[in-house]
Amino acid sequence: MKHVLIVEDEPEIAELIQFHVRREGLSTRVVASGRQAIEATRRDAPDVVVLDLMLPDLDGLEVCRRLKQNPDTREIPILMVSAKGEETDVVTGIELGADDYVTKPFSAKVLIARLKNILRRDEQTPTSGSEGSRLSLRDGSIIIDPDRHVVLCHGRPIELTVTEFGVLHHLAMRPGFVRTRDQIIAAVHGKSAVLTSRTVDVHVTALRRKLGDLSECIETVRGVGYRFAEALPVDG
Ligand code: CA
Repeated sequence: MKHVLIVEDEPEIAELIQFHVRREGLSTRVVASGRQAIEATRRDAPDVVVLDLMLPDLDGLEVCRRLKQNPDTREIPILMVSAKGEETDVVTGIELGADDYVTKPFSAKVLIARLKNILRRDEQTPTSGSEGSRLSLRDGSIIIDPDRHVVLCHGRPIELTVTEFGVLHHLAMRPGFVRTRDQIIAAVHGKSAVLTSRTVDVHVTALRRKLGDLSECIETVRGVGYRFAEALPVDG
């Protein structure tokens, strides 16, 4: 049975989340502060953490940072719960390694769909090795190794979340071809995904920052989606 750690200091919301998660046949534990969240994650090794951002003692972003810094907990996926108007926190959280987010007030349907997405992806990730071979792009400036899940920029490894890696890999497999947000979502999260276009945008923003001077290789195609730009723009 998959185990979900729910970090939420508002009892009514915690209870609501717990109710819906348990109805899906998952086990749960609720904690109400950042420090308890870190303790419970280390002790119970949950399959996913549902993490409210506004918490007493340590806030959600600090919890995220600490979990992702610790080798024992960094692989555990995090679904953030943010209040409306906290978009910058969401971007920060995704950059810190959180996998997805929902905004309060959220519908149970959306919450469960995102949770299932994360858990499903978790099952698919194991070393199948059939994902294809290493890609070398931009004269070797970017090397993507799907088997080892490594990206090198100018020969130096960069730290990407599973989702960021998936987006980059998906775009880089067909350089120069535009992909819609829906295509990206389908490729990264599976066909029944209930992610929004905005989620893709947030992951792309984080991905570009990590790519540094190579960020322009992820090109925005206005009104359509994104593409991996084959070469540096000739005429700016
Ligand atoms: Ca809260």
